[in-house]
Amino acid sequence: MKHTNVALFVPHEGCPNQCSFCNQRSISGSTKRLNVKDIDEAVATALKTQAQGREIAFFGGSFTAIEREYMISLLRTAAKYIDNRSFTGIRISTRPDAVDEEICEILKKYKVSAVELGAQSMDDEVLSLNNRGHTAGDVVRASRLLKALGFELGLQMMTGLYGSDDNESIETARKIIELSPDTVRIYPTVVLRGTELARLYESGEYKPQTTEQAVKICSVVLEMFHEANIPVIRLGLHSGGNVMSGYVAGAFHPSLGELCKGEIYLRRARQALMQAGIEKGKVKLFVKPEAISQMTGQKRRNIEALKAEGYDCRVLPRDGLAEYEVIM
Ligand code: SF4
Repeated sequence: MKHTNVALFVPHEGCPNQCSFCNQRSISGSTKRLNVKDIDEAVATALKTQAQGREIAFFGGSFTAIEREYMISLLRTAAKYIDNRSFTGIRISTRPDAVDEEICEILKKYKVSAVELGAQSMDDEVLSLNNRGHTAGDVVRASRLLKALGFELGLQMMTGLYGSDDNESIETARKIIELSPDTVRIYPTVVLRGTELARLYESGEYKPQTTEQAVKICSVVLEMFHEANIPVIRLGLHSGGNVMSGYVAGAFHPSLGELCKGEIYLRRARQALMQAGIEKGKVKLFVKPEAISQMTGQKRRNIEALKAEGYDCRVLPRDGLAEYEVIM
């Protein structure tokens, strides 16, 4: 049976501030206020496909910071589809400083099962420079509370923020792993029109990551989460919405996740070659069958990189190998 999710955007509702990089209109493609009729219609459309409903998700904005009665009206409407078993759970995303015991009680009452927090960075200076309006301590407190109350916890982090560098991203990933989230999303920073970051970029104060730089650091943190057994459910902004029309600069690529996985395979292949003491020549690299294209790399970039280092590589499938495992 196919599963279907319903994703609903609550654009810019309830945001007490304006983060340097955020232009919700570009990210979600919408500024229209979501109403209960929109939820009923989206659910009806999703169920028409005869797929089984999985999650109703409220993304964008700061869900638990929106006006209370309005938030409850949205939750109440979604919860009726959990009660009648059309869907299995409700997912929301919000700010870490908009989560407390009282909010959690409301979320529980209306069948919210998963909460994603926009942590973005675990460095207070980076958070402040990007006008996030919360601290790393807020992320820790909210994460612990949500886990203690049995919610599925998702954490989102960004790379390439104003004032950030690769070491900061690695440290943020390490601190996020300590919080044991159930899922993670990684977003390299994209400069969008009409944001403070666009102003900083145009004045020369901010230098965005190139796609190449983003792939390097995102592949490192992706591997850290992989080793910690924490699923990364998204890497990079979706190409839907209006991101392209609001795009000014930064790392935006429709296959960023695949590029990062390819980069991990390249590193693993180099490690395997080094450990085997092979310095050059013809080599057969075996990976799990589904990873052939990731080991080869987009447009054969991994094969070409290894060729430049003296290796003439053939990539072959082998059943039973783990993700990112490369043997010769
Ligand atoms: S809290 Fe979220 S929605 Fe609000 S301005 Fe920041 S990134 Fe945008």
